[in-house]
Amino acid sequence: MDDTDRLSAARAALDGLVLPDGTPVLGSARVSGPIEAGGRISLAISITPDEAAAYAETRAAAEAALRAVPGCDGAIVVLTAEKSSTSPPNLKIQDKKPAPPPVLAGVTHVVAVASGKGGVGKSTTSVNLALGLRALGLKVGILDADIHGPSLPTLLGLHGRPRVGSDRRLKPMQSHGLFAMSMGLMVDAETAMVWRGPMVMSAITQMLAEVDWGTLDVLIIDMPPGTGDAQLAIAQGTDLSGAVIVSTPQDLALIDARRGIAMFRKVDVPILGVIENMAHFICPDCGAQHEIFGSGGAAAEAQRLGVPYLGAIPLTMELRAASDSGQPIVARDPEGRLGTIYTGMARALWSALRAEPDHIQKTQLGV
Ligand code: ADP
Repeated sequence: MDDTDRLSAARAALDGLVLPDGTPVLGSARVSGPIEAGGRISLAISITPDEAAAYAETRAAAEAALRAVPGCDGAIVVLTAEKSSTSPPNLKIQDKKPAPPPVLAGVTHVVAVASGKGGVGKSTTSVNLALGLRALGLKVGILDADIHGPSLPTLLGLHGRPRVGSDRRLKPMQSHGLFAMSMGLMVDAETAMVWRGPMVMSAITQMLAEVDWGTLDVLIIDMPPGTGDAQLAIAQGTDLSGAVIVSTPQDLALIDARRGIAMFRKVDVPILGVIENMAHFICPDCGAQHEIFGSGGAAAEAQRLGVPYLGAIPLTMELRAASDSGQPIVARDPEGRLGTIYTGMARALWSALRAEPDHIQKTQLGV
């Protein structure tokens, strides 16, 4: 069955399905799709935030119908709402952390790697930290939740689509000894690019629920940049062991990083450490070190806020080239200068994870 046949079959599968407002799914102005790409079918239903509960059943029914389409490798139906000035009710900060989705029950530690803004090297850091943990002999997964700029496929050199198991759950792909999943492997970049807040969250929630991670010592979540609803939803929807904040030394980035720290604290997620990326530039010709953005900002800020400082990563051409080629630096040269820095950070992270939760809290509070 080719793509066009699958799309016709998808439309046929949705035929007869009616939205709670009484209009058929096919042809409703609220619905965009179905879209078919390489066996994956997606559909978006536009709602207002207060309609979320009423439309949950239709969403699930549409998704089940699409999944049953012959040759379908996976289906995703998301509810999308325009951002309102107030958060939708399900996004209010809850007093208690919800139980983790049962699918993550085999994962001992879930760690979010976050940054207050994009482009600070969060994904590069996530991958190399994951590889550093793996070098310690741990079983490690990495989930790229950066829906709008998924970079994991490039960083890890992943190609193709994830396999679907007999239970219809997605199997993570494997690269450099890591288990990996990215939205970039599931939907076209252009499709995800136009998604708005609630749709992004819905996609993230489904990605968490529908991937069979099996047993892992650590699952690293490469968070979307920023501190909005999507980040909050992940922090609340997964039983995070802690968060690592990546920041460049500039003040502005630090202000953003501070926001990130405040967000995790608000939902009782311990900050396991702050990493300063692009801390200084090492000239490839003369080997001299240049403090382009100043230095020590993240270290000083970490101390001020009473959170552990995991160290600094220089700005180097070598690191960028390694990332772009799908051969992350820790996989390529674990014993090298950069490899040693990341592995050291991974070791510190693992010690913090294994420490009593009380200890982490105390460290954070500077007790
Ligand atoms: P983010 O996930 O925060 O958006 P990325 O990890 O995708 O950031 O990094 C953005 C760009 O900067 C990428 O091209 C990456 O290769 C490059 N980069 C990240 N950290 C460094 C570094 N320490 N030295 C050189 N280039 C880096």
